[in-house]
Amino acid sequence: MPEPKVVVVGSINMDLVARSQRIPHAGETVIGGDFRTVPGGKGANQAVAARRLGAQVCMLGRVGMDPFGSQLLDNLSKAGVDATWVGRDPQAASGIALIMVDDAGQNSILVAPGANMLLAPADMDAAEAVTPELLGVTPELLGVTPELQGVIASAQVMLLQLEIPLETVVRAAQIGHAHGVKVVLNPAPAQPLPPELTHLVDVLVPNEFEAALLTGLPVDSDEQIRAAASALRASGAANVIITLGGRGSLLATAEGFQHFPAFPVKPVDTTAAGDAFVGCLGAALAEGRTLEEAVRWGSAAGALSTTKKGAQPSLPYREDVKALLGE
Ligand code: ADP
Repeated sequence: MPEPKVVVVGSINMDLVARSQRIPHAGETVIGGDFRTVPGGKGANQAVAARRLGAQVCMLGRVGMDPFGSQLLDNLSKAGVDATWVGRDPQAASGIALIMVDDAGQNSILVAPGANMLLAPADMDAAEAVTPELLGVTPELLGVTPELQGVIASAQVMLLQLEIPLETVVRAAQIGHAHGVKVVLNPAPAQPLPPELTHLVDVLVPNEFEAALLTGLPVDSDEQIRAAASALRASGAANVIITLGGRGSLLATAEGFQHFPAFPVKPVDTTAAGDAFVGCLGAALAEGRTLEEAVRWGSAAGALSTTKKGAQPSLPYREDVKALLGE
């Protein structure tokens, strides 16, 4: 079994979080309280989640030349994520999210995606094109050092979300699929998916709201959730997992449906539960675990992430997930 490797193609943002008694109305200025900068972006969150589960993780993305770009790259490297393939855009600013949180815990979020939206299909082709010839080694050497196969081809699993241009997601999935890499798509934020994308997806992981938006179907009962999962499989995805927050998740495969209950925990902040779930699922699949096992691993990670505040700080480590699973 080669070393488990996950490639993440997605967003990298700096979250700018300010607290205030209340959120200002349009045109109003309010003096607030505490302010923090926190690395985020669904792509980066899932990359860090998979890394904490023990996978080798390479991130493909784009940041700006600004200080946030440097901090975001630094953060990925410190987390042990290979950021060699994160480009720096000379024109665009790094992606940011302006987050205002009031005393009641309500938030208002404005995302300025900046450089993330300039990650192009050509960047995926460039990442694919790292061949033994380019690296100046012989194909024999390639046989014994799988990492020289290219950053995409050497991975077992590719994790995708929708915070970068859709055409880049499609190109990444095409390349991953062509190299036999398992393609996992977390369709967030939800937008209509072209059929040429869904047919390349091995595991589609929406939450219930995204499942409703993608299918136009209601998801109020177990029966309706199963129908939405079936509709998503009919649209081309081989397997579908609809995550249901504290109610667990539903797996739909060619064999049928399976419900996975949530692990009982005391949640304090559910931010990034989905990212913890998807990152951990990806790491488990890269290790060669079955889809059912990977969903249990993802569920454990999702549950643990709700017991701590914040996004990346709340992502659990392998030992914590194994302890919750009783392994
Ligand atoms: P998202 O953050 O994308 O909306 P969910 O809220 O559905 O995703 O959470 C993903 C997974 O994390 C769930 O399927 C579940 O396994 C786990 N999870 C989320 N919230 C809780 C909770 N309150 N208690 C236990 N597990 C949870």
